[in-house]
Amino acid sequence: MLILSPPLVLTGVIDPGHGGKDLGAIGANQLAVEKELTLSYALLLEKKLVARGHKITLTRRDDSYLSLAERVKIERNIPENDFFLSIHFDASVNPAAHGTWGFFYNRVVVEGGGYHVTDVTQTPSILGQALAGALVEQIVARARTNNRGTQPRPLYRYDQEEQKWMLVEKNLYVLRYTRVPAVLVEIEFLTNPAAERRVLNENFRDLVTDGIVAGLELWGQMYLKG
Ligand SMILES: [Zn+2]
Repeated sequence: MLILSPPLVLTGVIDPGHGGKDLGAIGANQLAVEKELTLSYALLLEKKLVARGHKITLTRRDDSYLSLAERVKIERNIPENDFFLSIHFDASVNPAAHGTWGFFYNRVVVEGGGYHVTDVTQTPSILGQALAGALVEQIVARARTNNRGTQPRPLYRYDQEEQKWMLVEKNLYVLRYTRVPAVLVEIEFLTNPAAERRVLNENFRDLVTDGIVAGLELWGQMYLKG
């Protein structure tokens, strides 16, 4: 059960990944198409959040193609957003891979083998990390998916042989260029046949979107409103 006390109004952008000519990932049994799933989850999520008084903008409401820059622009054109949340489903060459994970922006630069945090107090980055954690935790608690945790993007690792920091995973555009705390959540792996069946299930979609609502509200209460 979700309890809202004191009243908290969040303003934010929900971004259903892919769309139009960009299908995203395709399920192991070719039943699930990522662009369709992201939209159906986002529309249900919007309905639940609006019913609870939150102010939500979707980057797309139908099967249209949007560039990453256009998605970011929608966020940047709204003066008072609290968050940006991009919804995706994952794919792997390993058909056993499954679970939920969240990505947040890592505000560091690696130059000449050195590792510098550009600004540790950079608010969107810290709040983005906290939001990613809250979302993954609440989705996993309800939908009982495998908890893959959260990761920064870009991701660097120290290479002992080379004795320098190496880029392991690059930037995610929508995390890098939005102004506000931003998270990209990968709800499940479509390349896992069992997970593909689950994500098409209405009850699972209901549990996942409940988890996202709870994660957003817990995060908002903890970090935004005193
Ligand atoms: Zn995707």
